[in-house]
Amino acid sequence: MFEIRDLHFAYKKSAPVLNGLNLSLEKGEIGVVLGKNGAGKSTLFKCVLGLVKPQGEIEFDGQNLQKISRVERAKLIAYVPQEISFGDLTVFDSVLTGRISHFGLMATKEDREVANRVIEELEIAHIANKNVNQLSGGERQKVAIARALAQEPKMLVFDEPTGNLDIQNEKLIFDIAKKIAKEKHITILIAIHNLNFAFAFGDKFFMMKEGVIAHTGRADILNENTISDVFGVSTKIFDVEGHKGIVFGG
Ligand code: ADP
Repeated sequence: MFEIRDLHFAYKKSAPVLNGLNLSLEKGEIGVVLGKNGAGKSTLFKCVLGLVKPQGEIEFDGQNLQKISRVERAKLIAYVPQEISFGDLTVFDSVLTGRISHFGLMATKEDREVANRVIEELEIAHIANKNVNQLSGGERQKVAIARALAQEPKMLVFDEPTGNLDIQNEKLIFDIAKKIAKEKHITILIAIHNLNFAFAFGDKFFMMKEGVIAHTGRADILNENTISDVFGVSTKIFDVEGHKGIVFGG
C-alpha cells in the first residue's frame, strides 16, 4: 500500500503549496490526480520522488520513503515525465539507463536481459538500435515507460505523460500503463488533464484544490459538483453503455 499522510510543503519564500494532503493507493491501483494548473500536482510528485523535502509521511508497504536513500527509493518508484530528454543514445541504451540504480559502474548481463525484456514487452524491439532523437512522440513516450520499467519499480509516477501526443498514441500509452498496473501489480500515480481519459483509466481519483485532496473516491466522485468546485467549469456527465464521459455546459 502507498500512503501519504498530512503532507505539507512550501517552496522557499513562497506561500505553502501542500497544506496537509492525504492520499492512499492499494497495490496495482491507478490513482489519477486532477486539479487546475498550479494546484500542486507536480509538487506532490516531486515530494513522492524525493526531489523536495516536505513535512509529513510518505510510505510504501510500511516503509517510510523519506528515510531511505535515493538509490533505494529509485528501486521502489520510477518516474515517467511528460517530455523526456534523452542524450544521444539508442533506444536500448536509454532503457538500460533505467538500471543505473541496480548496477554499480557497469551494466551486468542481468541488467541487459531486463532491458531487452521490457523492450519486448513494450513492442519496441524493432527500434531498439535507433537513436531516440529520431523517434516520434509516441515512440519516445514508450521508451520513457520502458526505461522506468527497467528499474523494476513497485510504483510508477506519471506527470501528464500524453500531453504532446495525438489521441491514438494517447490511448496507446494509457492502455500500456493500465496493462502494467493490472498484470505486474504496479501501483500508478498519474496526473491526467483530459477528464474523459481519466474516467476510462483511473481506479481512484484525487481532486486537488488549495493544497489538499478536496474530493477522493471511485469514478462517481467525478461529478458535476466536484468538477465545478475544483475546475470552476459547468459540465454534464454522460454514460454510454457503462462508459462515462464529460461535456461542457449544462
Ligand atoms: P501543477 O503541477 O498542479 O500545475 P505545481 O506543483 O507545478 O502545480 O505548482 C504549484 C504552485 O507552486 C504554483 O503556484 C507554482 O507557481 C508554485 N511553484 C512550482 N514550482 C516552484 C518553484 N520551483 N519555486 C517556487 N514556486 C513554485
